[in-house]
Amino acid sequence: MGILEKEGGSEIGGPGRVRVDGVDCYYVETHALNNAQLTVRPGEVIGLVGPNGSGKTTLIKAISGVLKPQVGIITLDGVDVYQIKPKRLAQQMAVVPQSTDTFFFDFTVEEVVLMGRSPHIKFLGTESTNDYDVTRKALEMTDVAQFADRKIAELSGGERQRVIIARALAQEPKILLLDEATSQLDIGIKIEIFDLVRRLAASGIAVIAAIHDLNLAAQYCDRLLLLNRGEIIADGAVEEVLTQEHIAEAFGVSALVRKHPITNAFSITLLPHHTPGERSSETVHVIPGGGKGAPIIHALVQKGLSVSAGVVNTLDSDYDVAEYYGIECAVEAPFSPISSEVDSRNVQLIQEACIVVLPNICFGPANLKNLEAAALAGDKLVILEETPIESRDFTPGVAQRLYGDLRERCLVFTELATLVEHVESHIG
Ligand code: ADP
Repeated sequence: MGILEKEGGSEIGGPGRVRVDGVDCYYVETHALNNAQLTVRPGEVIGLVGPNGSGKTTLIKAISGVLKPQVGIITLDGVDVYQIKPKRLAQQMAVVPQSTDTFFFDFTVEEVVLMGRSPHIKFLGTESTNDYDVTRKALEMTDVAQFADRKIAELSGGERQRVIIARALAQEPKILLLDEATSQLDIGIKIEIFDLVRRLAASGIAVIAAIHDLNLAAQYCDRLLLLNRGEIIADGAVEEVLTQEHIAEAFGVSALVRKHPITNAFSITLLPHHTPGERSSETVHVIPGGGKGAPIIHALVQKGLSVSAGVVNTLDSDYDVAEYYGIECAVEAPFSPISSEVDSRNVQLIQEACIVVLPNICFGPANLKNLEAAALAGDKLVILEETPIESRDFTPGVAQRLYGDLRERCLVFTELATLVEHVESHIG
């Protein structure tokens, strides 16, 4: 039962299960959806992801009864969606479209949200107290109650979109379809809306959302469908769908996909194309830590320089970037202090390099060996210092003393760009 729904619900009833079976959709000559297959269960949040033109909107239109497939069938609780009267269908499904800029300009916010009740109001009937109650609740849930008496035209794009979502909620749907419904909103409101989506799902509503932002999709969806050129190329849990291979296939770009070890949250970073080319014969060694090495490694590799790194912890994005570029690394396991074996490997890489870069990293007992190794670089060392060492020292002053000595006898840069310029000119 939906959180806005009263005991008794609608006549069609049922749990709100959607099945898309072997569906093909065409627009004149464009084959927009090819053999789409999908089952949506109550309470699920399904994200549709994929590049522009991959068929996400088409799938939403087909499910919501506005674009009849040429092939296949879409059912809601076993009944062909295209056999269900529009008013009855609207009691079950609500759609929030991509852009609503030109709709409803002369209406107040409350009037627009109240329109969401029309599928529940009998022919020639008027709104009941319940309709007004549900409307009020929908206004509150989307945080637009404060604008209830304002004209839609007087709201910002983001506020207007929240009103349209409120209108969809006022329909008390069992299935909520969102077509890039938050793409024009700022990140705080996106998060608020998707938190709301999660609450709706917890109350049993199925949500199907086309989402442009892969990180948002990964964070909020139980399941993702990745579309490419009208085909569902992957369907499953976030980690099964957002793999580097799938992202490369659909978006034609490389990606770093990480799962945070504590929060389990995924983060996806799309990267520019990288085709391994000629690299310099001399190597620059980067001593990374906490992700601070990643932008330096990236910048140096982009300049065509050979780079090595260490000691890298596999939990850091430094490791992902190093792995992505296939560079030589001394690698340590998660949550482990640097072992003497890995330290020796790092020292060897430092000795082989012609320049060693020490980024603006924090030092604690677990990575102090990295600072000691930096000392072995002698005058090959260059430092990137963006914040004072005092704020990055989590040893009882040991790192500060060591760092102070190094700082005396090497070049210190405060900006990445100038450091990279220096390294490039030195090697070039
Ligand atoms: P997405 O939502 O993933 O961006 P769409 O479902 O909108 O993709 O589009 C899928 C394909 O159908 C694209 O090739 C697009 O150009 C085409 N298409 C979408 N809408 C129409 C339309 N009204 N008329 C003709 N072609 C369309």
